[in-house]
Amino acid sequence: MSRIQQLDARIVNKIAAGEVIERPASVVKELLENSVDALATRIDVEIEEGGSQRIRVVDNGEGIHPDDILLAVTAHATSKIQTAEDLFGVHTMGFRGEALASIAEVSRFVIRSRTADALAGTELIVDYGDVGTPQPAAAPIGTSFDISGLFNNTPVRRKFLKRPSTEFGHIAEQFTRVALAHPRLHMTLTHNDRDVFDLPPTDRLIERLELFYGRDVTETLIWVENEAGGCKLWGYVGHPSQTKSNRKGQYLFLNGRPISDRSLSHALTEAYRGLVMVGRQPIAFLFLEMPPELADVNVHPTKAEVRFQDSQQHYRQLLSTIRSTFLGLPLETSLRVDASDQHQAVEAGGPHQQRLAIAPARGGTTPTRWSGSATAASDSPTYPQPTSPAPASPTVPTAEEEPWSPPAQPTTTSGGVRGIQVHDCYLVIETPDGVAIVDQHALHERVLYEYFKQRVLDEEVERQKLLVPESVELSPREAAVLIEQSELLESLGFGIEAFGNNTVLVQAYPAILRKPDFDQLLQDLADTLEQPGQSPSRRDILESLLQMMACKAAIKAGHRLTAEEMDSLLEQSHLIDDAHHCPHGRPTALALSRAELDRQFGRLG
Ligand code: ADP
Ligand code: MG
Repeated sequence: MSRIQQLDARIVNKIAAGEVIERPASVVKELLENSVDALATRIDVEIEEGGSQRIRVVDNGEGIHPDDILLAVTAHATSKIQTAEDLFGVHTMGFRGEALASIAEVSRFVIRSRTADALAGTELIVDYGDVGTPQPAAAPIGTSFDISGLFNNTPVRRKFLKRPSTEFGHIAEQFTRVALAHPRLHMTLTHNDRDVFDLPPTDRLIERLELFYGRDVTETLIWVENEAGGCKLWGYVGHPSQTKSNRKGQYLFLNGRPISDRSLSHALTEAYRGLVMVGRQPIAFLFLEMPPELADVNVHPTKAEVRFQDSQQHYRQLLSTIRSTFLGLPLETSLRVDASDQHQAVEAGGPHQQRLAIAPARGGTTPTRWSGSATAASDSPTYPQPTSPAPASPTVPTAEEEPWSPPAQPTTTSGGVRGIQVHDCYLVIETPDGVAIVDQHALHERVLYEYFKQRVLDEEVERQKLLVPESVELSPREAAVLIEQSELLESLGFGIEAFGNNTVLVQAYPAILRKPDFDQLLQDLADTLEQPGQSPSRRDILESLLQMMACKAAIKAGHRLTAEEMDSLLEQSHLIDDAHHCPHGRPTALALSRAELDRQFGRLG
């Protein structure tokens, strides 16, 4: 066995470099953070060949005192904290004092700096860890870093570098994060002498966002703001019609520091559930501000992740802030009639569009049933089956009930809803602002989904008991997963038991499903329970089951509705928070405004 020995500082730096400096973008990130900490108002970044040739970062910040310049490249030397307690109140981007030492260990590193009160600047060269002697040099106030030949002394790391364009992409991403966190900074970025960004300073985040994402996106962004438990949350979230296939449009900042946080990302996804198509991701630029002691930033070498003292609170805050903002907004899809753009007749509406009010406003408030918290019992929704007439209190339909009776006339109800069914699939209705075309299946699906979800949360699911249990034969895999999850299924109203040999017995099922085809239903349940690839949370599984059951239970396209059924369905739509999208995120209705009609028929102007 070899004896233990203290590692040389150079090796320590190299190990730290392995952790902190993964690729050229890591260098850019660390240098930008240092410039922010030095209170610079302007930062220029010049990159050559994706950073593998050269990285130059110049700021006009406080500069480094000539006597400190050697310390700047010494590991664990920092001007930002002094005591262990300071770690719990970090106000700066940096505090570990290892970035410069790490970078200097794996590159040819030139630092030039001058403080405001110094007559001349100081230059220090570090050649792959060999620290030179500080020399006087001409320099403007501020600090410049010139890094070349990154990783030339660590061939393995160098080999892992991707194409310059890819590496530059990562650099641009780091640059973007800092630029979004600090709109007041004048920042420029060039690649191989080509200007990529020149961002003038601004007090308005939205102006900076516009430079990155264009007006099409920023025009539809929605402002959110909230304060709870000493934590401020503010920023912009995307309109549900503006989504991406990945999370790359999601930015989260904690006290000006870009962070990633799984729980908060999940809260964001949750806030958009049902509003965006499955698999699509919303856009968000969200800022959290809280006293530094409420979050530990010292849990990750590059400080990309933090640990919140109360992460549940931030989860709830983010979710409820976005949700309640959405409640007050028109999120319906509007029908656009535009001769020049025939193929795009349907366009998602921006926040400026008129609200689609299918039914006249109700007396009293609509209960917010999202959080599963307080729901006034007196305000509980009627059983959302478009029956005739709409029952005043929840009723349990029996399996024998005939679901739909025949044809419809245009109808007028006392409430003023006027609708006509076309193609046994869509309802055309007059709204206060114009007309709307409703997809009967999508709307009913949404209504049932909200209703059923609330029933499940309240543990008040109506069950239909079978006098003679149904036996269903399944594949071994399907039978196993159903038995394994029988408790979860129980909460949805199912009574399912093993009956040996891959056969299960159905004793009860949710009444909402009416007359199910048990073979098909159980197979679908098993499929939903067994989502491939990942291991979804109980919440996700429940959500998928709710969606599946709402879809099964909802009236189908091709079903003729009576006038009363139609009215009842339309009236139920205003009982739910978001009647504008089915649980899968498809629109339930398209709106055409009176103004648009007038315009198209030449009645205006
Ligand atoms: P940290 O940022 O964690 O303190 P670094 O290795 O990144 O560690 O930097 C070491 C020190 O060098 C900093 O604490 C700071 O005093 C000084 N420094 C680094 N970059 C700059 C800069 N651009 N302007 C002024 N001082 C700087
Ligand atoms: Mg630093």
